[in-house]
Parts: sequence; C-alpha cells; structure tokens
Amino acid sequence: MSDRPEHIIVVGAGAAGLMAARALALAGRRVTILEARERCGGRIHPLPVAEFGYRADGGAEFVHGEAPVTRALLREAGLSLQLIEGVQWSFDGAGFSRESRRDPHDAELHAVLGALKDDLTVTDFLQRHFAGPEYAGLRHSIERMVEGYDAADPARASILALREEWMDGSHHTQARIVGGYGALIDFLAAECRRHGAAISLGCVVSSIAEESGTVVVRCGNGSVHSCDRVIVTMPLPLLRDIALPAAVRAKADAANDIGFGNAIKILLRFTRPWWREQRPELADMSFLLSQQTIPVWWARHPDPNPVLTGWFGGPRTAELDGLDAQGLIDAGLSSLAAIFALPRETIARDLMAAAAINWAHDPFARGAYSWATPRSREAQTMWARPDGPVLFSGEALYRGRDMGTVEAALASGLETARTILRG
Ligand SMILES: Cc1cc2nc3c(=O)[nH]c(=O)nc-3n(C[C@H](O)[C@H](O)[C@H](O)COP(=O)(O)OP(=O)(O)OC[C@H]3O[C@@H](n4cnc5c(N)ncnc54)[C@H](O)[C@@H]3O)c2cc1C
Repeated sequence: MSDRPEHIIVVGAGAAGLMAARALALAGRRVTILEARERCGGRIHPLPVAEFGYRADGGAEFVHGEAPVTRALLREAGLSLQLIEGVQWSFDGAGFSRESRRDPHDAELHAVLGALKDDLTVTDFLQRHFAGPEYAGLRHSIERMVEGYDAADPARASILALREEWMDGSHHTQARIVGGYGALIDFLAAECRRHGAAISLGCVVSSIAEESGTVVVRCGNGSVHSCDRVIVTMPLPLLRDIALPAAVRAKADAANDIGFGNAIKILLRFTRPWWREQRPELADMSFLLSQQTIPVWWARHPDPNPVLTGWFGGPRTAELDGLDAQGLIDAGLSSLAAIFALPRETIARDLMAAAAINWAHDPFARGAYSWATPRSREAQTMWARPDGPVLFSGEALYRGRDMGTVEAALASGLETARTILRG
C-alpha cells in the first residue's frame, strides 16, 4: 500500500467546501480546493466596509436557532453573536401595526400539523384542512412565509419539513455574527491554508471523469487535476452543467426532487435613520412587512448603522427578472416611498451607498437556497450515498431541520469529511 497521502479535490470554497477541506487537511489528507469565483464564501458574500460602514452581508446574514456547528466554529474563531432584538411591524397599505405572530386559528393549525402522518405539499395541505373563507388570513400568512422566508413554492414544498421548522420555538431566535459571516469564512479559509490545503480561485470545474483508477477534474481555464476522490459542493442548479461519469450523473439527478428558491436582497445605507424620525413608533423596528414590490425590510436594530435591507424571496422574484441592480435599488426606494408616504427623491437624497443582488443572476449560485419537497428526503439519501470516488456535499444535502442555511452547509461538509475519514 502506498504511503502517499490520499489527494482529495473539493469543488467550491463555500461554507461546506471549506469545512470539509479543513477537517480532511487536519487529518493529514492532501487537499486542493477549486473555486470558480475570485473569492471564498460562495453564498456568503461580504460587501466592502468602505461602502456600508461595516461588513454588510449580501448573502447569508442571520444565524437561525441553535445552529450547533456554527456556534462551535464561532467559539473556535473567537467570534461573537448579537441577538436580533426589536419588534416586527407591518404596513397594510393604510397604517402601521405591530405584527402579531398569532393567528386566531394557530391552535387548530398546530393540532392538525401535529397529527399529520403523510407528507403533502403546502398547497394541498391548505386545501385539505383550511379551505374555508374563515381561514383566508391563515392561508395568506402561511403562503407569505413559505415564499418569503423559505424562498419556496407552496405548490411543491413539503408540509412535514415546514412543520419541523414552525413547531420548534428555538427556531425563532435569530442572531448576527459580529463582523458578519465573512469573518467566519476568513477564519475557515485561513485554517484550511494553515493545515496545508491549497485554494485555487478562478477555476470553473467543467468535468469530472474516472480514468484508469484516478479521478480527473477539468476546469474551464484549461487546468487538469488528478486526485483519488472529489467532493462536489456546487449549488443545485450548477450540477446540470458539469460533465460527470454516467453512474454519478444518475445520482446527481436525484437533486431534481429538491427545490431551489431565489431571493433578491437590497441594501440601502442612509446618512441618518429617517424612518425613525418619520415614524417615532418604529424606533424599535426589526422587520417591516408590506405588500409592496419589495415586501420585507429590516433595520439593524440594536446596531445603530442606518441601513435598511430589502428582501423578496420565492418564485415571484421572476417578475423582477428584467431589472438590473440599479433597477432593483429604484424598486426598493419606490417601495419605501409608498410605505412611508414620502416622495422617492426625498428618501434617495439621504442614500449614501446601495447594493442589490438578484441571486438568480449570480452565475455560480443561480438562486439562493434549497427547500424540501415531499420527495427530498429520499433524494438526499440517494444523492449522499458514498459509493464511489465522487461525493456530494452542501446545504441541500443536510438532512436536519434547517436545510438551506449556513448551518446546513457546515454540518454537511463536516459529515462528508467524516465519512471519508471513517474509510
Ligand atoms: C441572499 C441570501 C440570503 C441568505 N440568508 C441566509 C441566512 O440569513 N442564514 C443562513 O443560515 N443562510 C442563508 N442563506 C443560505 C446560505 O448562504 C447557504 O445555504 C450556504 O452559504 C451554502 O453554502 P454551500 O457551501 O453549500 O454553497 P455555496 O456557498 O454556494 O458554495 C459553493 C461554491 O461552489 C462554487 N462553484 C459553483 N460552481 C462551480 C464550478 N463549476 N467550479 C468550481 N466552483 C464552483 C461557488 O462559487 C461557491 O463558492 C442565504 C443565501 C442567500 C443567497
């Protein structure tokens, strides 16, 4: 037997890829990370401090719920969390009100959900159990949550997966990393390098082949890399473009049974928190929900930076497909103008910096994150099977509750590394 260390290529330097690479490098494997972008982090995308006054997150921003792998890593990195405080408000077109999480039918919803045995889509669930006109408000808030928060399509999303998410109280705890998710990526990338992993940026992997006992990975820039095993962490929509050995392709096609949603994020930095001056009752505003084109906004409360972030998630983001970044920023300003009954120019006058990302247009993500359909668990089992030298990892493969999150990506990366190390 050769005493040459096993060489493992990791495709993608996002949370999953870096987490897997660090564990493997630490265990003495030779690791090469091939990343398409000119930066690490993937869907964790810090924006320049010079523009926003802090390292704003253009991608992932919140740590949801318990997130044990994320929290352990934060402790190791010496990073801390700031809990999200404040009140969720809503604007119904006429006035502002403090959003109540409670619907009069909440107890009934929980009872029906709790008794549910077989999975079905959210739309079928609502039609079967809550079709009456008295449930119109409940149906609307569930659909808004599934589309906006999970970026999912209610006609395909699994009600059982959402039940886990909704019925767990701890999930509602949300926090931000002081220094942003970028600080976590900096730590992981430095750790990978410290333990000897090589990170090659600007390498768009186009094919993976098995050739006489080795795995050959080819990149768009012409570079060719041989290894013993490869871990593919690219987001679901990108998997369709890569050439794979026939058996691996059949496995990767299982990913078609996992949903992948889009989100548009707009960050607006102002000279002052004009919304608080305009509406003193919103001093403690965390989130603000409305029916505007950009329906969800949040402030950084309790952090004093006068930044408002706009969010639009789910299938209806396709309606804004024709807008470039400036068009999205304008749409965001128009939504705020409508909510606060101010001329758009008045709001725009206070704007210091702005960024807008439609993640469907990002060539190396083509959307925001995955969500479960009733067939996803089966698909994940098939897709994650470690039965050859090509393995898959990433947020979409996570079998726990919070699929689609950074926690899911980190946990999946760690799990894949452990599978390899167990031999
Ligand atoms: C707008 C937005 C907001 C979000 N908000 C949150 C949040 O608040 N909290 C949370 O927990 N999660 C959030 N998420 C989800 C979270 O960002 C992802 O689940 C997580 O970062 C995914 O990590 P990953 O390693 O699985 O994938 P990625 O981060 O996508 O990493 C995959 C890497 O593969 C690279 N790649 C792609 N194609 C190729 C190729 N052909 N060759 C080489 N490399 C390639 C990509 O460039 C990327 O770096 C958000 C995501 C978005 C987009």
